[in-house]
Amino acid sequence: MKKIVVVGGGPAGMMAAIQSARNGHRVILLEKNEKLGKKLFITGKGRCNITNACDVSDLFNYVMSNPKFLYSAFYGFTNEDMITFLENIGLKTKVERGGRVFPASDKSSDVIKVLQKECEKNGVEIRLNTKVKEITEINQTIDSVVLENGEKIEADVVVVATGGISYSSTGSTGDGFVWAKKMGHTITELRPGLVGMTVKENVPQVLQGLTLKNVELSITKKQQKKELYHGFGELLFTHYGVSGPLILSASSQVGDLLKKDVLELHIDVKPALTAEQLDQRVLRDFEKSQNLDIQNAMTHLLPKSMIPEILKMADIPIGKKVHQLKKEDRKRIVGTLKDVPLTLTGLRGMEEAIISRGGVCVNEVDPGTMESKIIKGLHFAGEVLDLDALTGGFNLQIAWSTGYAAGTMLED
Ligand code: FAD
Repeated sequence: MKKIVVVGGGPAGMMAAIQSARNGHRVILLEKNEKLGKKLFITGKGRCNITNACDVSDLFNYVMSNPKFLYSAFYGFTNEDMITFLENIGLKTKVERGGRVFPASDKSSDVIKVLQKECEKNGVEIRLNTKVKEITEINQTIDSVVLENGEKIEADVVVVATGGISYSSTGSTGDGFVWAKKMGHTITELRPGLVGMTVKENVPQVLQGLTLKNVELSITKKQQKKELYHGFGELLFTHYGVSGPLILSASSQVGDLLKKDVLELHIDVKPALTAEQLDQRVLRDFEKSQNLDIQNAMTHLLPKSMIPEILKMADIPIGKKVHQLKKEDRKRIVGTLKDVPLTLTGLRGMEEAIISRGGVCVNEVDPGTMESKIIKGLHFAGEVLDLDALTGGFNLQIAWSTGYAAGTMLED
């Protein structure tokens, strides 16, 4: 029996604690907040997108950083294993669009409840309001965890599951990075992921609050054709630029490039129709409303607030009558609807990011056990590692799988 101290009561820490306790070790779980899982509580807009029901081999396609490192962890504790695990400890789940798995109750608090109960059932000593200040090692072997109040807890194994640095009010303030660095680990650059993007033009500001469902998006370098990102889904205009599921995914794929290049965003507002089909559709609408002002003839085509912006971009004066439009004018309207061009200038900040990218360099961590290759007995789990994925439940699956690995391989 070893003495295991898990630092951080988020999803990765709770999973590591349960798994090591199930393996017969003495486990203490330290959490600085007054309750477990503060970030978990706000996941999936309070519904918690626990994992994704895709084929396990597809999980890797959604991981942005270091997918190969996750091979053992994902296969050691798969998305299906997570669903079964939750069902076994009393939480029913359901699958929604895109394979997203949620608790059947739609309450993230139910996920936290069953995990906490399972910790308690397996004898994990949970200490809340307990902030860890330091982790000590002697001769590259873990020694102890020192609390803010000066108390020292000796340990055979310490699992660092302190998360990243986004939404720091939930407790993820990056303490694990400081300790890891002090003990010789490399911390790769921390940067926001799954976050909104700022735009040069003031179009988003004018349209703020407007959501466009089912648009097609592509991102290119300025005046280049090659697509750096291509996606289909929902986009939201905000006071600073663009957000929404499609943009969050795009941000993790083009965010690093945005540091050096100005990128162009192209929105196809009517992706279901080809330019020719859309032209026919617009022509039909216009034929029925020859005497209307152009903006009033387009209300079946677009959200009202968007019409003046599209007309401005197509260089058509508002108030022009439909019968005054030439064929070229119509073609320009159609061209704009198929390609609203915006200039991306940067990412929004860490506080708004769903995840922080970067972290403890995975080359210095054993992928099977999550143990440090530098300090014996030091393990990592969850977002503290340089691992991140797209939306859809994949980031939590990283937390579950790495937490499980850190808790399973402690037997030798
Ligand atoms: P965290 O959840 O950050 O937990 C770390 C814990 O460590 C915290 O409780 C913290 O208080 C504690 N801690 C830190 N320092 C100390 C210290 N010094 N002493 C003691 N304790 C400490 N992912 C999905 O897959 N699906 C979703 O639906 C989803 N929705 C999200 C929505 C939002 C708004 C956000 C911000 C994130 C979302 N994510 C989602 C991402 C997901 O929440 C994280 O990837 C995940 O919580 C990481 O788990 P973790 O255990 O590594 O870290």
